[in-house]
Amino acid sequence: MSALALLARNRLALGGLIVMALVVLLAILTPLLPLAPPNVTDTGNRFLPPFSPGAPLGTDHLGRDLLSRLMWGTRLSLAVGIAAAFVAATIGAAIGIVAGYYGGRTDNVIMRGVDMLMAFPYILLALAIVAALGPGLMNALIAVAAVNIPFFARNIRGITVGIAHKEFVDAARLSGMSDARIILTEILPNVVPVIVIAMSTTVGWMILETAGLSFLGLGSQPPVADLGSMLGEARAALITNPHTSIVPGLMILVIVMAINLLGDGIRDALDPRLKSGALNRPLPATLVAPDRQPESQQNDGILTLDNLQTQFRVKHRTYRAVGGVTLSVKPGECLGIIGESGSGKSVTALSVMGLVASPPGLVTGGSVHYRGDDLIGAPYRQLRSLRGSQIAYIFQDPLATLHPLYRIGDQLIEAIAVHHSISRAEGRKRAIDLLNAVRIPNAASRIDDYPHEMSGGMRQRVGIAMALANDPEVIIADEPTTALDVTVQAQILSLLDDLRRDRGLAIIFITHDFGVVGQLCDRVAVMYAGRIVEQGPTRAILDAPRHPYTARLMACVPELGAGKRRLEAIPGLPPPVDDLPPGCAFAPRCDRATDTCRRGDIALESAGDRALRCLQPVQPQEAMP
Ligand code: ADP
Ligand code: MG
Repeated sequence: MSALALLARNRLALGGLIVMALVVLLAILTPLLPLAPPNVTDTGNRFLPPFSPGAPLGTDHLGRDLLSRLMWGTRLSLAVGIAAAFVAATIGAAIGIVAGYYGGRTDNVIMRGVDMLMAFPYILLALAIVAALGPGLMNALIAVAAVNIPFFARNIRGITVGIAHKEFVDAARLSGMSDARIILTEILPNVVPVIVIAMSTTVGWMILETAGLSFLGLGSQPPVADLGSMLGEARAALITNPHTSIVPGLMILVIVMAINLLGDGIRDALDPRLKSGALNRPLPATLVAPDRQPESQQNDGILTLDNLQTQFRVKHRTYRAVGGVTLSVKPGECLGIIGESGSGKSVTALSVMGLVASPPGLVTGGSVHYRGDDLIGAPYRQLRSLRGSQIAYIFQDPLATLHPLYRIGDQLIEAIAVHHSISRAEGRKRAIDLLNAVRIPNAASRIDDYPHEMSGGMRQRVGIAMALANDPEVIIADEPTTALDVTVQAQILSLLDDLRRDRGLAIIFITHDFGVVGQLCDRVAVMYAGRIVEQGPTRAILDAPRHPYTARLMACVPELGAGKRRLEAIPGLPPPVDDLPPGCAFAPRCDRATDTCRRGDIALESAGDRALRCLQPVQPQEAMP
């Protein structure tokens, strides 16, 4: 949703916007309006009450027209307040960006200076500045801007520090950009929303401060009116002729209220975290469409997916990430799921335990049976008691799943304690056992390591240990070795292999690597565009792929010692899942596709222990491409 639309939805902010627009418009038009001259005194008509002929708001102690003075005064107050905000924002942001970007000593020196400015009471500092520079509106502006600079500087520095070490800034540095260019093109665009937010919430405050200085006689000098000086001059007649105070006072109230409401609205609309829905926490379990057609369990697997369908509904688009996946694992069995990136493997895996973020995720059909219970649409309590204890996950990036500030031992103990009440000593012993089980050398001392003290392979073992913590029956491993080098990968694979043989674990192993499948998996399912296109025993599929996609995938894998062979990349890209072609999703990239392939739904046909979704399968006797 655009920022403007968000702003318009916020009633209060919209009200503030309308009032401010009116006030600003009037202030701009003031010189053109048929107003009495604001500074001409007429002592014969002092303190005329409002609604007097010729003076709609009355006159002040020198007989000057209050309406005219109010309009000119508003114009001046707005101009000075807004100018001060711009000056403070520009200088403050520049200071903050430089301090945050360069860091180290630069940061220290600058920020200590800013701290010193902040150590003075606000209004006292402004008074001191005006006292030093002499009274006058320009000096009041400087004073108000100066006392607000620290606020911007600290705010922006904080944001910049967070951005300055992000990968995209490193990338810009690596590409040889100068610091100035990085600041202008990489950092600044990221902090501008924050600057705007900080400004919108402080402009009102600065208008007030300017008025305050004028009220004390340090801002605008007689006879020129601004809202503060009008109030100051009216002070003496506050009791006898209150309208002279009320008129500028009301105007200040209206302006500051309107600006603050508008500022809050702008902040809510611009804050990227709010915009991306940081406040709409994802639901604890993936939403299930009310019209979902559950399926009954067909076979004896411990975990069975039947025609599972998961979609993402973003705005008006529907992404069919998983379009009817059927598969099952038995205890002690390892099922591989293989497919190109984006084929829906992860979403399938996450759907099992309702871990797909909702919104936008939605399970629209099918069932997931675990020991006979349908997990789709199961109560959250039931899912929670199964998560991690019966069905555990191993993810690709262990650094992302391990908490950086806790020792790995504590994290293992925590994983156990979620499902069992154990004492610390017991937990520690169990954690050491787990680390031994995943063959971490010196488990008793490594247990007190932080994640960053371990290598990638070690961390992944910790990830596996965590998955094993509660003796699950099923482990779903989503590309657990993709980030590792081949030797470590081989160790982890043999570890998983041992674990399933020793403990009778059922493993669903997601990968895009046929070598890995060949090492570990009994059966393999090949996914393309959210559907399984071929499934069967690993050996049979590796020896004789029937689906052209499987064959092409395998042809992309280099073989050691197989001599020189052209590696055939598959032309084209997987189809976008919000716009799948009719018929076979692979047809546009397939050199065997015929017209019938591009029409109508193609079913997954089972023959023996193989299943195939293809009208033009590769024949066993055909040579591989
Ligand atoms: P992979 O097979 O590489 O694990 P995924 O299961 O992560 O693929 O993604 C499957 C499809 O779902 C992709 O096309 C992806 O673009 C889409 N997808 C994943 N998450 C979202 C989301 N939050 N919103 C929209 N589409 C998504
Ligand atoms: Mg994935």
